[in-house]
Amino acid sequence: MTASRPVPRRSGQPAERAEFVVVGGGITGLSAAWALARRGREVVLLDQAEIGHRGGGSHGSCRIFRLGYDDPAYVSLAGLARQLWTELEHASGERLLHPTPQLTFGPQMPQVRAAMRQAGAACELLPAQEAAARFPGVTVTGEVLVEPESAVIAADRALAALASLVEPAALAGAIRTGVRVTALADDGRSVRVSTADGEIEAARAIVCAGPWTAGLLATAGITVPASATLEQVAYFAPGAPAAGPAMPIFVHYGGEFAYGLPVPGSERYKVGIHHGGPAVDLDHQHHADDAAMSRRIAGAARTFLPGFDPRPVAVERCVYDNSPDTDFIVDRIGNVVVGSGTSGHGFKFGPLLGDWLARLSADGTAHLSQADWPSGPPARFAVSRF
Ligand SMILES: Cc1cc2nc3c(=O)[nH]c(=O)nc-3n(C[C@H](O)[C@H](O)[C@H](O)COP(=O)(O)OP(=O)(O)OC[C@H]3O[C@@H](n4cnc5c(N)ncnc54)[C@H](O)[C@@H]3O)c2cc1C
Repeated sequence: MTASRPVPRRSGQPAERAEFVVVGGGITGLSAAWALARRGREVVLLDQAEIGHRGGGSHGSCRIFRLGYDDPAYVSLAGLARQLWTELEHASGERLLHPTPQLTFGPQMPQVRAAMRQAGAACELLPAQEAAARFPGVTVTGEVLVEPESAVIAADRALAALASLVEPAALAGAIRTGVRVTALADDGRSVRVSTADGEIEAARAIVCAGPWTAGLLATAGITVPASATLEQVAYFAPGAPAAGPAMPIFVHYGGEFAYGLPVPGSERYKVGIHHGGPAVDLDHQHHADDAAMSRRIAGAARTFLPGFDPRPVAVERCVYDNSPDTDFIVDRIGNVVVGSGTSGHGFKFGPLLGDWLARLSADGTAHLSQADWPSGPPARFAVSRF
């Protein structure tokens, strides 16, 4: 996706210097690097693999952008993130969010509705019959909450757009792929970032290493609890050429959290089950289909998608970087800044997380009360909560 540039080997030479080193080129790390680069700061981003590689959590064609959470705080945060997505679209000149209505139904829909109303987000409650008439492509159960401000994020395009903004804005060789960071050491003045190919002395290291974050932080004596799971999604094709209105997003909220979204620029529809996968050894991932998960996902397709053939045309595995409470981890410990724990719902917040990480790194912004969130992360995301 971007030119890979190795860190120069420096046996016996002083370490290379950089103002900010970001570890991780998923949505969080790329967003942090963009937020720093657009502030005119010097940033180097390192990833052990290619941008968008299938072992990370950010790969694939699409993600849901929704305001519909059962917690008003996340509804408000998604609203803030939306503004930054718009800025990213302007900066890159590309449409990254494809507006698509979302249908939320299932046992926890009333909590989602209450949270959205409390946060002042637009939503409409429809009786099942009316929802079925307006959105015949999805079989709903019970009343349906329609969210008009949701969208499908073109995830792969978003990574590419961020990378293309970071590379020229920062400095030559700003994005270096195929470089694994092996250790971090903060001596109180700067952070020594060790890689297999050499060392970089950085004023700040920003660790956005997804599920690898806990292991890397441990080398600097920082403890964050985390667990990684290997999830699965499947893509379905229409049983007959689509004739009705465009397909919406759906989320069956509560119980088995099944979700689905149309793939931008394609007739395919993606279906997954949130938090459905087993624990995974990150460096030995097996991406073969899990038969039990395939059956559950095909069952969801059969239940919710009347116009689609329930035999998947493609299956994808993808890791979740879970925090114990599913809240994000956004904090600064000395000169090490952390952005992780996205727990399977972080893509939509990428530009907001990136902005906070840049503020924590460059300005030393502390955690803030709700009224001040646009300028920094809320206290609930601090490492000290564990
Ligand atoms: C199947 C699935 C569906 C999802 N659906 C949605 C959705 O609809 N909406 C939504 O908002 N979110 C969704 N998510 C969640 C979202 O995709 C993730 O929260 C987000 O992509 C995580 O991004 P990240 O940058 O924090 O981590 P990652 O994308 O995992 O990036 C971390 C990067 O760090 C690199 N790295 C790790 N260790 C090192 C090291 N030591 N040295 C160098 N590089 C290193 C890795 O190679 C990796 O590229 C979904 C996730 C999955 C798996």
